[in-house]
Amino acid sequence: MKVAFVNLREQNSRIYEQVKKAIEEIFASSAFVSGRHVAEFERDFARFVGVKECVAVQSGTSALILALKALGIGAGDEVVVPAATFVATAEAVEWVGARVRLADIDPHTWTIDPASVERALTPRTRAIIAVHLYGQCAHMDALREIAQKHNLYLIEDAAQAHGATHNGRQAGSMGDVACFSFYPAKNLGAWGEGGACTTNNSQLAEKIRLLRDHGSPRKYEHVLVGGNFRMEELQGLVLKEKLRYLPQWNQARQQAARLYAEMLTPLAQEGFLQLPHCAPEGSHVYHLYVVSLKNGYDRHHLIEFLASRGIPAAIHYPQPIHLLPAFGHLGYRKGDFPVAEHLFSSCVSLPMHEALTATEVCAVCDAIKEFFVSVTV
Ligand SMILES: *Cc1c(COP(=O)(O)O)cnc(C)c1O
Repeated sequence: MKVAFVNLREQNSRIYEQVKKAIEEIFASSAFVSGRHVAEFERDFARFVGVKECVAVQSGTSALILALKALGIGAGDEVVVPAATFVATAEAVEWVGARVRLADIDPHTWTIDPASVERALTPRTRAIIAVHLYGQCAHMDALREIAQKHNLYLIEDAAQAHGATHNGRQAGSMGDVACFSFYPAKNLGAWGEGGACTTNNSQLAEKIRLLRDHGSPRKYEHVLVGGNFRMEELQGLVLKEKLRYLPQWNQARQQAARLYAEMLTPLAQEGFLQLPHCAPEGSHVYHLYVVSLKNGYDRHHLIEFLASRGIPAAIHYPQPIHLLPAFGHLGYRKGDFPVAEHLFSSCVSLPMHEALTATEVCAVCDAIKEFFVSVTV
């Protein structure tokens, strides 16, 4: 059996006919950027998230940069970011000229630890970026309290969490502004690059709209120094069509995750693995199904073993932010964020996508069991 790590063929074929028809229209009209399809996707995605405003942009990284910029964050400011995230969260902060302050993560949910956030605050702190890592919302209620108490902006990095919820609220509706990525492999993926900011603050949305398009409310009128962060029509079209299937695709991921949990729980109880912990106040959308190896079992051995059985596994991510050479200037050292360091030195991402079958999940779990039997005898 050959299991796929991600499988985009299934979802792409689902929308192919619709998209093909509309592409002919796009071709005929020559409206390739920021047209009707992008506007319709923005309307639909705002409704899906349950917010007033959605501004579609060129990528998730662009969404983070524009959100920070629109909030007026820049030189002299600090933004608290979890040490365990994809690099883009931290890059965006430095890209607008502000400084990253790191916080550790919760050892159970693997999202940013509110107590560690409080320790990272300084008089220069202006914002917290809560990353909904792997598809589970961060501790938004506790983070909101901290943000309110210290007069900080709360930004969601929801790039991995389209459709996740927390106490009945959607990812992307809980912060002052939220940033999504539609990179092809995300739960909602474009046929190229894509991203969006969502917010209930119309003034902020207007500012992001201006920044997205050369600070220009009308052609050749420039009221802000912006740039080109616009979304292409093809991406708006694909995303609008795919969005209709997102709830059922997320449900299929959750079903696969339940089966993983069922089959791997004995190994977790025997102390081989830590499984994803799903906090009761939220729903996890399993952008990634990540397990953490316990007791020093070597993840590279497991990954090689699985590969030999036709099962791809991956690492998200191999290094926390403070140990990346690009962030050496922050002055942190190994040992500063032990929970993030432990997760990123022990995590393995198992195959996860909406077309994953029960048979495939069973094959993955059987192979994992076989691996632990082989290393413990
Ligand atoms: C994918 C991702 C991003 C960046 O999105 P791009 O569209 O690739 O620029 C940012 N943050 C997180 C947590 C991500 O997973």
